[in-house]
Amino acid sequence: MDLILRNARPIGAEQEVTDIGIAGGKIAAIGAKLSAEGETIDLGGRLVSPGFVETHIHLDKSCILDRVKSEKGDLDEAIAEAAKAKRGFTPDDVHARASRTLEKAILQGTTHMRTHLEVDPGVGLRSLEGVLPLLKEYAWAIDLQICVFPQEGLLNNPGTDELLVEGLKRGCRAIGGAPYVDSNPNGQIDRIFELAREYDVDIDFHLDFGPTAEGMTLDHVCKRTQEFHYGGRVAIGHVTKATSLAPPALDAVAKRLAESGVALTVLPSTDLYLMGRNHTHDFNVTRGVVPAHKLLHHGVNCSLSSNNILNPFTPFGDCSQMRMANLYANVCHVGKQADMRECFAMVTRRPAQMMRLADYGLAIGKSADLVVLDSLSPEMAVAELTPVLYAFKRGRKTVSRQPATLHRPH
Ligand SMILES: [Zn+2]
Repeated sequence: MDLILRNARPIGAEQEVTDIGIAGGKIAAIGAKLSAEGETIDLGGRLVSPGFVETHIHLDKSCILDRVKSEKGDLDEAIAEAAKAKRGFTPDDVHARASRTLEKAILQGTTHMRTHLEVDPGVGLRSLEGVLPLLKEYAWAIDLQICVFPQEGLLNNPGTDELLVEGLKRGCRAIGGAPYVDSNPNGQIDRIFELAREYDVDIDFHLDFGPTAEGMTLDHVCKRTQEFHYGGRVAIGHVTKATSLAPPALDAVAKRLAESGVALTVLPSTDLYLMGRNHTHDFNVTRGVVPAHKLLHHGVNCSLSSNNILNPFTPFGDCSQMRMANLYANVCHVGKQADMRECFAMVTRRPAQMMRLADYGLAIGKSADLVVLDSLSPEMAVAELTPVLYAFKRGRKTVSRQPATLHRPH
């Protein structure tokens, strides 16, 4: 074996400690007291999980708090401020900020990521040019996939379509959109499906981002997904409009998503920050975070993701998927242990399924992309916001962190 993790508590079978043997970058054996030789790490009975998967994060516009204002703190201001800042982006500047954010994510145990990059006449392809080299530069620690999308509209913004096409030609494996800023939301959805099918890429929309349920476009996305047999390849993010639906209507949305194979990504930090701004004088503010754990019961696949790091959309962020799971659980009143466990699944197994990662999982033959958490179970890891002590990519140690130590007086 190239590496043996002794006394591991593998997720899914965490009642007992066992050993995990890794060879050739893959999980080669799982069993108690493996009689194997190789470099050994004793995990002392700690939880081992496949790495965290982030499906929705904007590396290009991360870490720009020093050049934008966030006074109103609403979506319109965030888009306008980011648009202004974007004009000054150079590939080098994007590369430097994106690297910093990506390293933070790696340090938090993220081993797979889909990043959403903006292309439009204002920024051209400069963000894409800044991020593309990272795919190779950080392949030792993370599998990075790029999703290009038009943040400032498509049909209303001449020149954007050609840039999306160029992005897809340069190897982006997903295409997204933000129909709610387009002059013709359904028209944008149709064009994105057209491009996705032409280049055979997955779809990941920003969708139905707003404080009321008026004008939702979710049904149109589901309709096109079914029409083009794209089930399992389409995700939608935010959908905060659904948070003001009464339970029967929310159930209907869940059934619609499940039957069409459209997955949902909840972005708790951004949704909390940008929603509720219509409350002018009280602090009994709406949360705007879709109760994803309830949608799971209808068969919808859901994930939780960071979305924005230190920008006017979200002036917070340490790229911790554990934090997103904990924040979500807290905000969405998750109390049942089974649902707490699902919060962990929504930053690991479920987003992996969303991204169709075939070699992901804690099983023999899967890629040894693993994290070790200072915990005994996923539900306790979510509840306690447990730190990552190790991360491994294809069996190679990429991160280690010492547990905190108390220094008692003598
Ligand atoms: Zn986003």
